[in-house]
Amino acid sequence: MNVATGAQALADFIRRHPRLVVLSGAGCSTPSGIPDYRDASGNWKPGPPVLGAQFVRELPARQRYWARSLNGWPRFQAARPNGAHRALARLEQHGHVRHLITQNVDGLHQHAGSRAVTELHGSLARVRCLACGDVCARAAVQRMLERDNPGFMNLDAAPAPDGDAQLEARGLGDFRVPDCPRCGGMLKPDVVFFGESVPAPTVATCLDALAQADALLCVGTSLMVYSGFRFCRHAVARGQPVAALNLGRTRADDMLTLKVAAACDEVLAALLEELQAQPDVPNALQRSEPPSSTSTMA
Ligand SMILES: [Zn+2]
Repeated sequence: MNVATGAQALADFIRRHPRLVVLSGAGCSTPSGIPDYRDASGNWKPGPPVLGAQFVRELPARQRYWARSLNGWPRFQAARPNGAHRALARLEQHGHVRHLITQNVDGLHQHAGSRAVTELHGSLARVRCLACGDVCARAAVQRMLERDNPGFMNLDAAPAPDGDAQLEARGLGDFRVPDCPRCGGMLKPDVVFFGESVPAPTVATCLDALAQADALLCVGTSLMVYSGFRFCRHAVARGQPVAALNLGRTRADDMLTLKVAAACDEVLAALLEELQAQPDVPNALQRSEPPSSTSTMA
């Protein structure tokens, strides 16, 4: 779809509903080289990830997780914010984004300068001991992984691109998972795994922020995971309009006041220009009309 048209529609939405809570997802970070878990139809690609219960219960699941993580981490931690992250940080500075709820675990919103951020699913930069509760940096765990598993490194550099197939071929039974340096307990990334729940206080913080906003804007998320979708349901139940900027289908498509189906980095950058070219009209800060009929920009 046309980026300029999408940006214009979003700018109008923001002029009518100037105080936003933003819910961001994987699509926001794909331009930074972090892969999306779902395709444009909302289906898993290439297959569902490790479940939390499986991770805790089964050594082979932990071996598989950490072996993939050992190889994926260097690229993940080298990722830098893109235009979408930077535009959302600017929108916070302009007072439009009052709170940003992210389903991403990459810390890129904070790197770009966003302050009022809730990491709904935690952060991959931290690792927690399930026995003593100690939290350490993922970077430190990387040094342990590399020290203990030199034979499993640099799979990405090998000729065949299928890292998983190569891991299978090497026999993951020999892979040494990291233990807590303090107590020897089981280490787990400080993220909400699939099949796990977001902590109640985290949800409460987000709902408080939503209650003080004029509208909810979803950016780069298909909303297929309930932990994010619930905020759309809450917004609609309160009579707050919901807009979505996402390339593909979303689970909330039939609840949306506005849908912009386009790349979020391009549209958000154009949106900033649009808002700067035509600043808010003086009465824009009044609480505006109830949700109108859905207009789909595709
Ligand atoms: Zn420990």
